[in-house]
Amino acid sequence: MFHSILVPIDVEHESTYAPVLPVAIKLAQDHGAVLHLLAVVQPVGSAFVSSFFPEDFELKLSEQVKSKLAQVATESDFGGIEPVLHLAQGSIYEEILLAASSLSVDLIVIAAGRPEQGSFLLGSNAAQVVRHADASVLVVRNQPS
Ligand code: ADP
Repeated sequence: MFHSILVPIDVEHESTYAPVLPVAIKLAQDHGAVLHLLAVVQPVGSAFVSSFFPEDFELKLSEQVKSKLAQVATESDFGGIEPVLHLAQGSIYEEILLAASSLSVDLIVIAAGRPEQGSFLLGSNAAQVVRHADASVLVVRNQPS
């Protein structure tokens, strides 16, 4: 019985979250679980690198990711479930693990990775989540085309 489900969403790659959402939604419906969606914004990096970007670059990026996440939540069919949206900034897998722990989720549903990275069995963030999460992790594999 799952009470709280976390779906990390890479808003840039619909091909990763499109196959995952129906699985997570069905599980949330069947278990009466809360469904959390999380998008992580990665910082630009070093002060030297960020000096090449406009000052408000990170703020604008966060706003764009937030609005894209809201779009995903409104455009997908959640079958009556109201997802709880979260935005975090930092290392992707670390923020997924932190959110999973602070939200006390008991299941993380994650894509194996981008289909175009086909030769890799598991993306680098998905691998770290599987390795380190306290919660159960369901890895949704890309369907062969
Ligand atoms: P790949 O390198 O093939 O993109 P990843 O391991 O990075 O593989 O991605 C697998 C999954 O990790 C994604 O489907 C998503 O669930 C999660 N993920 C990746 N990037 C982000 C992000 N910026 N925010 C939230 N989750 C992410």
